[in-house]
Amino acid sequence: MNYYSTSKQSPLVDFRQATIDGQAPDKGLYFPEKIPVADEELITASESLTDEEIAFRVIRPYVGTTIPEDKLRAIVREAINFPIPIVPVNDSISSLELFHGPTLAFKDVGARFMSRCLGHFVTYDSKKVTVLVATSGDTGGAVAHGFYGVEGVDVVILYPSGKVSDVQEKQLTTLGNNIRALEIDGTFDDCQLMVKQAFSDETVSGKRFLTSANSINVARWLPQQIYYFLAWKQWPDKSNPPVVSVPSGNFGNICAGLLARQSGLPLAHMIAACNANDVVPKYMSTREFTAKPAVATLSNAMDVGNPSNFIRILELFRHYFPELEKSLTAVSITDQETRATIKKVFKQYQYVLDPHGAIGYLALQRYMEKNGVDKGLFLETAHPLKFPEALDDVTQTGIELPEYVREILTRKKQSISMKPEYPLLRDYLLS
Ligand SMILES: *Cc1c(COP(=O)(O)O)cnc(C)c1O
Repeated sequence: MNYYSTSKQSPLVDFRQATIDGQAPDKGLYFPEKIPVADEELITASESLTDEEIAFRVIRPYVGTTIPEDKLRAIVREAINFPIPIVPVNDSISSLELFHGPTLAFKDVGARFMSRCLGHFVTYDSKKVTVLVATSGDTGGAVAHGFYGVEGVDVVILYPSGKVSDVQEKQLTTLGNNIRALEIDGTFDDCQLMVKQAFSDETVSGKRFLTSANSINVARWLPQQIYYFLAWKQWPDKSNPPVVSVPSGNFGNICAGLLARQSGLPLAHMIAACNANDVVPKYMSTREFTAKPAVATLSNAMDVGNPSNFIRILELFRHYFPELEKSLTAVSITDQETRATIKKVFKQYQYVLDPHGAIGYLALQRYMEKNGVDKGLFLETAHPLKFPEALDDVTQTGIELPEYVREILTRKKQSISMKPEYPLLRDYLLS
C-alpha cells in the first residue's frame, strides 16, 4: 500500500514513511492510494472472530509489508486491550463506549497503535525520534500514555497553563520517563504555533528527528476503523445495518468510519455530530468551506475551527458532492441542548452521557425521527467524569472514576513552565 499527498506535490510513500513524516512535505495529508476491499469474513462472520483478529485484518492491508505479521499482531493486541462494548440506552438507540482505555477517551487506541509502530520503525532505523505535540486536553494524555516507555521515542507535550482540566493535566504531567510536559503561559493556539515553528526550523530538525502525533498521522487515523468493525460484530440485527453518529471535531474518527464503510462495512449512514463549531454542517448546506477561529464549548475536545481531516473525506468521495451527501449528514448542537440531553437521558434511561456523546445522541435522535429510522448507534467518545462540569449533581452521583484515574490524581505534577515564545522552545529542544 502506498500513500499520496492530498496536495499532490510529494512523492508516494509507504506506511513506514507516512508514519515517520506525519504530514507530507507539501503540507498535504497522506491518503491511501487504493481503498482495500474488506476481508469477506469481517462482514459475514465477524462474530466468530476475536477482536484482535478483526483489528489485525482491518489494518493489515494499510500497513503492507512495513511491519512483520507477528509484530503487527502484538501491536494491535496492545492497542485494543480494553473493552469496546455496545450498550443499549433504550429500545432504539445504543452507545458504542470507546472510553474504557487508560485516558478515558477514544484517542487511546490510535495513540497506542501509532506509538508502537513508530517504536518499531525507529529500532529498525537505530535513529531517535522526538514526538512534539500541542494539546488542548485530550490528545496530550492519550499521546503521553500511548508513548510511555516506548524505546527510541521521546515525547514533548505543550499545553496551555490553567486551561486543561485537573484529570487531563495529571495525565500529561505525572508519567516522567520519556514523556515531558511544557506548561505554556498562553493559549492552545500559542502552543500550536510554537510546535509549527519547531517543525519548520532546520536548526532543530537537523539535530533531532521531529514528528507529530495528531490525527493527521496515518498511524493514528487508520486504526480508528477498528471501532466500526467491532461495532458491527456486536450489532444484533445484521439485516438492518446501523446509522452511526460520531461526535466530531477534527474529523479523523468519522473519516475512518467512512473509509471502513467504503471498504465494504455495512453502515447505513453516517452523522457528523458537531458543537457550535459548525464549519462542516455549514459546508454540507452551502458547499462552502469557511474555516473560523474555534469557539469554546462544553464539549471542548471538539472545539476545532478548521477540521484538518475534512480534506480526507472529500478525497474519499473524489470531491463529488452528490455521493458525499448520500453518505454523510452534519449537524450542529448548542451547549444548552447538550446539557438538556444529558439531563433528559439520565432521567429517562439512567444512562450518563458525557457532553461529546450527548451531541452524538441528540444528532442521531433527530436524524432518526426525521427519516423514520428505528435503530441507531452513537459513539460515546469520553467517560462522563472526564467532563464533570457538564453534569449536574444528580447525574454525577453513582458514577465513579476508575481506580487508575483516582490514583493518577494523587501523583505530583512535573512540568516545565515556559513563556509562549518560540526561541525558548528551540533552546529546550536543542539542549
Ligand atoms: C478528539 C475527540 C473528539 C473528536 O474526534 P475527531 O476525530 O477529532 O473528530 C470527540 N470526542 C472526544 C472525547 C475527543 O477526545
